[in-house]
Amino acid sequence: MSLPKQADAWMEALLGAPLPDEPRSTCADCAMCRPANPATPAFSPSVKCCTFQPSLPNFLVGAALLDERTSERARAALRRRIAERRGATPLYLERTPREERDQERGKAGYGQDPSLLCDYHEDGRCGVWANREAVCSTFWCLSDRRAVGMRFHEATKRLLGRVEEMLAIWNVRALLPTRVAALVHLDERPRRYALGELPGARTGDSLGLPTQRRIWGPWVGREEAFYRACAARVAPLSWADVRTIGGDALTAAIAELEAARARLDAPLPTVLCAGTAERIALGAGAGLHTERVPDDPLVVPHDVADALPLFDGRPLAEVLAAVPAVGPWLRALVDQEVLGVPGGGDVPRRDRPAGPLGPDDTLAVFRNFRASPIDERLEVSPEGEVTWALVCGTREVRVHESEEIRLLQHIERGARGFRAGDTAVLLSGGWPAARAFLETLVEQDFLQRVPAPPPIGGAPDTKM
Ligand code: SF4
Ligand code: SF4
Repeated sequence: MSLPKQADAWMEALLGAPLPDEPRSTCADCAMCRPANPATPAFSPSVKCCTFQPSLPNFLVGAALLDERTSERARAALRRRIAERRGATPLYLERTPREERDQERGKAGYGQDPSLLCDYHEDGRCGVWANREAVCSTFWCLSDRRAVGMRFHEATKRLLGRVEEMLAIWNVRALLPTRVAALVHLDERPRRYALGELPGARTGDSLGLPTQRRIWGPWVGREEAFYRACAARVAPLSWADVRTIGGDALTAAIAELEAARARLDAPLPTVLCAGTAERIALGAGAGLHTERVPDDPLVVPHDVADALPLFDGRPLAEVLAAVPAVGPWLRALVDQEVLGVPGGGDVPRRDRPAGPLGPDDTLAVFRNFRASPIDERLEVSPEGEVTWALVCGTREVRVHESEEIRLLQHIERGARGFRAGDTAVLLSGGWPAARAFLETLVEQDFLQRVPAPPPIGGAPDTKM
């Protein structure tokens, strides 16, 4: 069982089956202390993935205080944080503003820096294991179903996180009705202490006494009892109860989880297309990894990796006839998102316009048949040199010249489709310079040529 007992029962009731366990994430002998990708920094065995301070919703704080399985150190940490008014609000026992900043700053120390270690961690173990919140209970570093499995766990995290928010608010409405306006945004989102959304939270890590009194009302000085009362209210809830309490606020997250589960169960389609993937030599094979699973390369025989360009939109049967060795690897390549279903604005390679690039051709960012997000990054070196980078999937374009920066910004704005010739005015070299730049990006699989969009107004209505 991967989740705490009650959350596991809720998810099983929703999905009709238990959540998958992930035996490749060998926590007792942490898999990330020996990552498969040599470029991934190894985790420290003394901290593993617990360089993270979770924000526990009110009912899980109470459950952890009541649960005899909670370690003494974790129980003491919970009590200390409450007594010191560090992140203790009626909604959550939260990360403090300082911990929030450390978390942001400490991304480089993830898995390594002991100063980022969770307060509830003890001798390599979780002291609140039976009452972990959504982030901790759905985290796996390695999934049997690779990128597709990771997306399923992320969807579970988002749904459980929303459930935690709604139940925490439901408790406050019942036990502290006069403080709801101070604690809850109009859109039913909790006001977060760590983010400075609660009055008084910006002045330090401990809430000032006036603020403490204002938000805790009649429960001030009895905060532990409040959290225990929250746990008692949530303990008997079934999934049907949670669904009723959460109402429309849960609908989108449920739909996302059901779609992620459907992807796990989906049969292989008759056409698959290759996106971009990084390829590294690993042992006697080729390690293929994509942006969602950079630490977990899929090792395949070289002839299988060499066959990937054949996945250009032709029927799967044709690829298998040409390279039968690919057959046993198809499911794993789909799970790793090296292969994807054509669609989503990406055009199979053999359906793309060919020939020299002309000004009236349409270009779009290639999203790898997996809707890879497009990110921009601005870096300024100590010498003052500006670098603008555009990242999509495993491809990154970096430029320094102001003209080229403007061109990249134009590409980002027109990611779903832009006229190639419209970039000519951005470079002093005009269309020849723009064409050379764009053709390089097409060769690098950052851009794809796509059929021209229909004229504004659409195709003529043939029924008239
Ligand atoms: S989930 Fe965390 S503790 Fe478990 S193997 Fe992965 S990194 Fe290690
Ligand atoms: S709550 Fe437990 S699993 Fe989560 S970071 Fe802390 S020690 Fe690790």
